[in-house]
Amino acid sequence: MQAVVKDKRAPGLTVTRVAKPVAGPGEVLIAVRHAGVCGTDLHIADWDAWAQGRIHPPVVVGHEFAGEIVQVGDGVTGLSVGQSVTAEGHIVCGHCLQCRTGNGHICKNTRIIGVDRDGAFAEFISMPTGNVLPLQGIPTEIGAIMDPMGNAFHTVLTAEIPGSTVLVVGCGPIGCFAVGIARAAGAARVIASDINPKRLALAARMGAHLTLNAASDDVVQTVAAETGGEGADVVCEMSGVPQALHQAFRTARMGGRVQLLGIPKGEVPIDFANEIIFKGITVYGVIGRKMYETWHQMRRFLTAGLLDPRPVITHRFPLARIDDALAAIRSGDAGKVILEIA
Ligand code: ZN
Repeated sequence: MQAVVKDKRAPGLTVTRVAKPVAGPGEVLIAVRHAGVCGTDLHIADWDAWAQGRIHPPVVVGHEFAGEIVQVGDGVTGLSVGQSVTAEGHIVCGHCLQCRTGNGHICKNTRIIGVDRDGAFAEFISMPTGNVLPLQGIPTEIGAIMDPMGNAFHTVLTAEIPGSTVLVVGCGPIGCFAVGIARAAGAARVIASDINPKRLALAARMGAHLTLNAASDDVVQTVAAETGGEGADVVCEMSGVPQALHQAFRTARMGGRVQLLGIPKGEVPIDFANEIIFKGITVYGVIGRKMYETWHQMRRFLTAGLLDPRPVITHRFPLARIDDALAAIRSGDAGKVILEIA
């Protein structure tokens, strides 16, 4: 089958042919229809320090996908050939303290498809059934972005949203999803900030009541003015940029909540006393998707038509044009970039 492979310990990805996987016991084989390209794939392609310490080539990359079940392994029940599905790409151990207390998203033994084992930028992928979610009528192009959208659902829905003022800091694809989710979940006011006008336009299209260009607007003052001097009830920090992190804490109201999803490149000095403690702020670190609460919430929002994430998909490429897909992400102007397979 055709696949995008990290085949050497050096920059670059290779489009090549590899053996088609089979569905082992307790697994299903899925023909991939759409796959999402992520910053993680960029790190692997660029062979940065993280990739060098984590990736063991050769490995098929890609972890966001949806497709159709074409084979079921021994002992599989509840899933059948022809079903349209997506899957959680984090394969967790099921027996650590976190898994056993309903916190599989922070399993310490997590193995990720496209990182620690073969992934989804391929014609076929085999997955353990526990990770597989029937799409229930959701198109595969949306199924393929439910991994990053799930990060946004996890970020937004772990805060109290109905009637709240929500500030989304950073309007990449996950930030734009967060805007739409906050609207769908009943936020009274959604404000979005970024420094890229194209991304701000996308955030507006996803329902932001107000967009702020952090390069020219005073985000802290504007949010204060918009909230009668109180500040935002919930701030979703989706950028990881140090200045934006400080803005997140400074714009949150006393007793507000800051959801941290963006990953800073290095250490960021924080004035804990003034930015967090004296304001009584609750800080929540977002990693992955709650397994499987987030997925069920997301599927219900999507099947009920509460949210249409499709405006966020700005680029589509065939599998063989993975380099063009990565270039689109590098440009900084793209929303979600997806691959169309078969
Ligand atoms: Zn575990």
